[in-house]
Amino acid sequence: MKFNTKTIHAGQKPEETSGAVMPPIFQTSTYAQEAPNVHKGYDYARVGNPTRTALEKLIAGLEDADECACFSSGCAAMDAVLKMFRPGDQIIASNDLYGGTYRLFTEVFAPYGIDFTFVDMTDIEKVKEAATDDAKLLWIETPTNPLLRVVDIEELTDFAQSKDILSLVDNTFASPYLQQPLAMGADMVLHSTTKYLGGHSDIIGGAVATSNEAVMEQLRFQVKTTGAVPGPMDCYLTLRGIKTLSVRVQQSVDNAKKVASFLENHPDVDETIYPGLKSHQQHEIAKKQMSDFGAMVSFSLKDDSMEKAQEFMSRTTIFTLAESLGGVESLISHPASMTHGSIPKKVREKAGLKDSLIRLSVGIEDADDLIEDLEQAFE
Ligand SMILES: *Cc1c(COP(=O)(O)O)cnc(C)c1O
Repeated sequence: MKFNTKTIHAGQKPEETSGAVMPPIFQTSTYAQEAPNVHKGYDYARVGNPTRTALEKLIAGLEDADECACFSSGCAAMDAVLKMFRPGDQIIASNDLYGGTYRLFTEVFAPYGIDFTFVDMTDIEKVKEAATDDAKLLWIETPTNPLLRVVDIEELTDFAQSKDILSLVDNTFASPYLQQPLAMGADMVLHSTTKYLGGHSDIIGGAVATSNEAVMEQLRFQVKTTGAVPGPMDCYLTLRGIKTLSVRVQQSVDNAKKVASFLENHPDVDETIYPGLKSHQQHEIAKKQMSDFGAMVSFSLKDDSMEKAQEFMSRTTIFTLAESLGGVESLISHPASMTHGSIPKKVREKAGLKDSLIRLSVGIEDADDLIEDLEQAFE
């Protein structure tokens, strides 16, 4: 089955009792059993729910994974993955991560004894140097947030496999429509389904897809034991959102290319960061591993200050000032004071995150209107 067909049909079949084409919202906490432990595959809704199962099968299909586990948020999905590790284990992660990921690593799991090492993953030698004998997981995010650096998934997972290290790709920014990490050798792919998969800024959710049976067994154990599960209504909305994934993301990408080229040529812009631009440092890698370049665009101002960036953002009217990304509507945000506010200024600067950096999540509106909105904000 090709990708666009999968978004509609992967793991989906009409509901058995009624033939309903859309999966029903099974709003129940428990299931009748014929005799103790004799049931139709569901015993208690923390462990499983048919609406959630439909979503898990769909996401597994999109990522070409055997299975998927869904969670109540992207952070809950990350939390479940991290609980597979033990004190003394080393996790090597990119130094340019989603702010919430960095916080979860450093403030929740590091105090429990997990050893996190942050490196510039665009340089494989640095990753090799960082790996100790206790290295257990390579945590890859690409394109990264908010600097949109692209790392070579294949090169990294090759190295991980050679050392028996597991690898995970946070595929939230690309979506499975543009990037297929498991096909490039990753063991796990993680999503904040809040973003492109849900696509309408109306749910919070997370997912981990894998074909590694041992990993899936541990994730299912976490689902059952710690219970950070999504409700059936949220699963339904995510299922509904995914049906239009291809058309939404394609339109967003087409718009993002126009917005990026407008910004690149604007006299007040210092740097425009978009993997589709020839000037992007890892443009060739993006070309190799993504089917297109995504709909996130970041740029910094010639006049580099928090104030200038904040002024700019308060003037846009179509771009809504808000955290998050991946919805049908265009959003504008200021990483240094919003999503990455929890990262100390020194660490931010070291990673190249300027105070005037502005991040756009380009939506599916008309590109002319988006550009006009940015134009008037510059003026
Ligand atoms: C949003 C996001 C997360 C966290 O997901 P939530 O659903 O907000 O908990 C993790 N990784 C990336 C790249 C994200 O953009």
